[in-house]
Amino acid sequence: MYPDHMFKYVIIGDGGVGKSNLLLRFTDELFDPIHTTTLGVEFGYKDLQIDKYKVRLRVWDTCGQENFRSIIRAYYRNALGALLVYDITCRKSFVHLEQWLSDLRQHGHPEMVIMLIGNKSDLKAVRDVTTEEGEAFAKKNGLTFMETSAKANKHVEKAFVNTAHEIYKKLKLGVI
Ligand code: GDP
Ligand code: MG
Repeated sequence: MYPDHMFKYVIIGDGGVGKSNLLLRFTDELFDPIHTTTLGVEFGYKDLQIDKYKVRLRVWDTCGQENFRSIIRAYYRNALGALLVYDITCRKSFVHLEQWLSDLRQHGHPEMVIMLIGNKSDLKAVRDVTTEEGEAFAKKNGLTFMETSAKANKHVEKAFVNTAHEIYKKLKLGVI
């Protein structure tokens, strides 16, 4: 059956933070331990049930083109959800969030639901960004926040699904 709603998501953040693996985990329940700049897919999708509706999440991955930010901007068009990802073991990826967020705010839908994700939570021993820092950044910028592990399959589904529920709420309120 054709879905009742289609929500476009984008996954953004520095190269290597785990964007492709978050998508792979969510759509195919897989993990890829070898770093590949491109997995050869541009998007994946998964269907959810929200209330009585079938909702299709269509998730766009940046395919290793994170450094070409002008190209990535075209991805933002019509996206209702964004997963803004950093790696908890890489401070640089956390510092770069400001830039990613400013791009999103400038080029994305004004009511876009943005979920901040601190990925690689299984690597606590080499953590470089505290949970409190992630929370503080999210609070300051009005984002929701979650630490995930694509590898250990922790909170990945929750991150995508919670975002869909937030979008659905806005849809019902008529703001998007
Ligand atoms: P992308 O460049 O943001 O798409 O990142 P990838 O998904 O290609 O992942 C980059 C590297 O980090 C790969 O070697 C992955 O196997 C690894 N990786 C991704 N997610 C996790 C995670 O949750 N935990 C750990 N330990 N490694 C991860
Ligand atoms: Mg990738």
